[in-house]
Amino acid sequence: TQTAGVVDRLLTAAMVRIEDNEAELGRLDAVAADGDHGLGMTRGMRAAVAAARRAESSGADLSAALLAAGTAFADAAGGASGALYGVLLAETGAGLADGVTPTTVADAVDRAVRAFVELGKAELGDKTMLDAIEPFRTVLREQAATGTDVTEAWNAAAKRATQAAADTADLLPTKGRAARLAQRSKGYADPGATSFALLVSAIGDELA
Ligand code: ADP
Ligand code: MG
Ligand code: MG
Repeated sequence: TQTAGVVDRLLTAAMVRIEDNEAELGRLDAVAADGDHGLGMTRGMRAAVAAARRAESSGADLSAALLAAGTAFADAAGGASGALYGVLLAETGAGLADGVTPTTVADAVDRAVRAFVELGKAELGDKTMLDAIEPFRTVLREQAATGTDVTEAWNAAAKRATQAAADTADLLPTKGRAARLAQRSKGYADPGATSFALLVSAIGDELA
């Protein structure tokens, strides 16, 4: 099925949210690491939107558009988070090949999180993106079981991810660059968990 630019529309909303928070993401990443997360995310999202737009205008379906977006994101963003977000986008797309319902979305996110963990090897509590992604995944699955619609399910999960990202301030990083200066990051949210919450919240607002 053709998507009439839906990936373009949703990712554009996410891109704008990231642009608005680029400086803050950079500051969070500079607390204990190299400060490039805001810049990487902006570059990645701009490339992802451009790739999705190109793909959709030549007839790509949801899966193909998200694969193009993920590939472009990874290439343009670079860094640990670039490859990880690239996998999340592409695998979510692959999981949505048979349509979009609360259950297929929950299944697609399950699939994406499995690939994400396989690549990054993070565990819960390591103070990474996973600490926002896993609660997001769990709420989507719970919502799918209640018979709600995709927008409501997504927004409930995004709300939970936002809280979980803020809660990472209490954790100490053990993965990625920030692990070396872990103590410094106490009291500050993980940059990747924060960007994830921003992305899914912006998409939820656009769906609503
Ligand atoms: P880099 O560390 O290469 O400069 P970024 O600054 O863009 O990349 O991204 C940092 C974020 O990436 C961290 O805040 C964390 O959320 C996430 N991250 C880093 N390594 C991993 C990993 N192995 N698994 C999951 N997330 C990770
Ligand atoms: Mg960095
Ligand atoms: Mg870096």
